[in-house]
Amino acid sequence: MKRYVKWLSEYWFLISYLVIFFQPEWINAAEITKTRPNILYIMADDHAAHAISAYGSKINQTPNIDRLAKEGMRFDLCLVTNSICTPSRAAIITGKYAHKNGVPVFNSIDPKEPTTPQYLQKSGYYTGMIGKWHLGTDPVGCDFWEVLPGQGSYYDPLFITQKGLVKEKGYTTDIITDKAISFLKNRPKDKPFFLMCHHKAPHRTWQPKEVYRKKWEKIKVPEPETFNDDYSTRCEAAKEATMRIDRDLQPFDYKIKPPEGLTGQALKQWKYQRYMQDYLACIDSVDESIGNILKELDNEGIANNTIVVYTSDQGFFLGDHNWFDKRFMYEETLKMPFLVRWPAVIKPGSVNKQMVLNVDFAPTFLECAGVSIPNDIQGKSFMSMFKGEIPPNWRKSMYYRYYHYPFHHQVQPHYGVRTLRYKLIYFNKLNAWELYDLETDPHELKNVYADEKYKEIVKDLKVELTKLRKEVDDNDRFADKIPRDDVDAVLKRFKKKK
Ligand code: CA
Repeated sequence: MKRYVKWLSEYWFLISYLVIFFQPEWINAAEITKTRPNILYIMADDHAAHAISAYGSKINQTPNIDRLAKEGMRFDLCLVTNSICTPSRAAIITGKYAHKNGVPVFNSIDPKEPTTPQYLQKSGYYTGMIGKWHLGTDPVGCDFWEVLPGQGSYYDPLFITQKGLVKEKGYTTDIITDKAISFLKNRPKDKPFFLMCHHKAPHRTWQPKEVYRKKWEKIKVPEPETFNDDYSTRCEAAKEATMRIDRDLQPFDYKIKPPEGLTGQALKQWKYQRYMQDYLACIDSVDESIGNILKELDNEGIANNTIVVYTSDQGFFLGDHNWFDKRFMYEETLKMPFLVRWPAVIKPGSVNKQMVLNVDFAPTFLECAGVSIPNDIQGKSFMSMFKGEIPPNWRKSMYYRYYHYPFHHQVQPHYGVRTLRYKLIYFNKLNAWELYDLETDPHELKNVYADEKYKEIVKDLKVELTKLRKEVDDNDRFADKIPRDDVDAVLKRFKKKK
């Protein structure tokens, strides 16, 4: 026995070298299982990138979310393929566009539709979903899940759990955080994990925690540059949309009575302040949550090989163009924040300017986990960007399509193409076009579709749009008819109101 020990100690270095160099299959598989990264995918609801200080916010500070940018990578051109809650969630989790995954509006996802947690669970991950789910049917492929019904509420929320309905007491952002931390503490330690921690905040009806409400009560929030957009060069869709700060915010949004005698521009400015104060106060709780979750990863000693993503299901208008809400293909709502930290791989403080899409998240997560990407996934993995590489022939244009009309805010259906410089939008029911030159007009205030100077550009963009529609195989499945369950549910609610 002693002889073997002596032999081993003398030749250990050589043996290790041979094992690493030749990587026999059994060693490789075991190593991969042991070293596969944990994935913590945190998502807020309606959190615009321009309300995150790491993205240069002029209106608030988010020190904990910023930590992910400082210690990881910030993506500056992450775009959503349909700027609305449920469809974006479905696109993210399936890696497919709405016409393929069957979720163009607020309809339920088919539980038979394969999703990221299912693939990861099958490959040996411990999977979890906590918070806002909003895909109708119960999560599939999750070892642990506790989700809010529909939009959920800000206070004393009800959760649908594997054991039935549970009513919690307290502030929802904090409760989701506590549940995520408890997941991290109690997970099986011999498996990598995939956790979706999805906040309800800062979705309307912006109800902040008292401490942050009070903080913002007296803060004057700067107005955006496009606050007084008069839509003069846009088509009728902008005028038809009912999400204007001055006209469409409701008393339940601003919660207190406007000062006596306030009218016109002054009243609009007052409403904007009330909207933003509560919206930003809700974000303070989300930021606090990220701080606590990152602390827990440090406590567990797993930060180094845990991928932490912070994103939002789409962007949001923060008084931009006199609007709240989302839906339009304009920049403020098309852009999603996407921050990712993975100390073992990503260089701290790096910035990525490549065009990535929400349909890319699923294949990216799968590649990070060493799972092969199924052929029917339409997005592309951008994992190599984490290492600072750009995949060959990476996309320079993207396809967008919005369907939800005539419901909630009356935003006309539209589709279009965004390239690195231009954006061409087609409002199909109006047969109207808009073109923006993002280099000369980054705020999209001047529709130049009819400008002679852009004639050739329009021609090229139409070719590109046709090409993209073909590539993603958009057969106009929902062009004339959006799924009935959504229509029925909305109509029922409308009837009740009357
Ligand atoms: Ca949303």
